[in-house]
Amino acid sequence: MFDSHFHTTDPRLNSLPEVVQGKNHGVEIGADFASLPTVFAYAREHEHIYCTAGVHPEYADTYSANDFEHFVVEHLHEPKFVAIGECGLDYHRADLPSRAEQIAAFEHQIYMADRYRKPLVVHSRDAWEDTANVLIANRAKLKNGVLIHCMSYTAEQAKFLMSQLSGIEVYFAFGGHITYKSKAYLHDTLRAIPLNRILIETDAPYLAPVPKRGEINLPQYIQYTAETMARVLGKTPLAVETLTAENAYRFYKIKAAR
Ligand SMILES: [Zn+2]
Repeated sequence: MFDSHFHTTDPRLNSLPEVVQGKNHGVEIGADFASLPTVFAYAREHEHIYCTAGVHPEYADTYSANDFEHFVVEHLHEPKFVAIGECGLDYHRADLPSRAEQIAAFEHQIYMADRYRKPLVVHSRDAWEDTANVLIANRAKLKNGVLIHCMSYTAEQAKFLMSQLSGIEVYFAFGGHITYKSKAYLHDTLRAIPLNRILIETDAPYLAPVPKRGEINLPQYIQYTAETMARVLGKTPLAVETLTAENAYRFYKIKAAR
């Protein structure tokens, strides 16, 4: 299994004995500027772990374009550094940075992905319209591919985005929320996406799948998400595992180390 998105260095996980550090294969996602050095060190120390550099919209009010670019340039030579993000828009809570601040940080990270030829990992929650508008307006800067992580929108919205970004490799990652009854519409979304554009993720420590919902999400819980995706797609869990791993390697441009 290749987990396309997790935060294993999050303090909620790294002290738990049931998390066997470095045993999973996948991508440790940078989301907070202050912790990027920890994220990169973790990838350096573990053979099958890759990393990204990004600033999540919840930190958009302290985003420094200069500091971020400096960090990226300093680490460009590192083979484990596979993408820019997660970045994007989150309008879920009222206490988050303003929409203008979020859009500015998002657009700068889109620029960075283009300038330094990295694929882009996008976080979007309750912000469909602005996310689509920003991506479409910046489509010329998405030539290295874009991934909508923790896809939470409808089949129609996914199809609209793919049509507006035709010619660009647009990927979608599904996490534990696809196992929730309240998110059953995501089954249609999953079926609307071409098989070569589907990824799987835990987003650990967030969004634990049923039957672990509400607990701290552990990397090994990815099997529950794979089982649900397999049922929806009419495939075996092993087929989903193989398919999503191949897609993740292609999106993140990871060659060997399988
Ligand atoms: Zn995340």
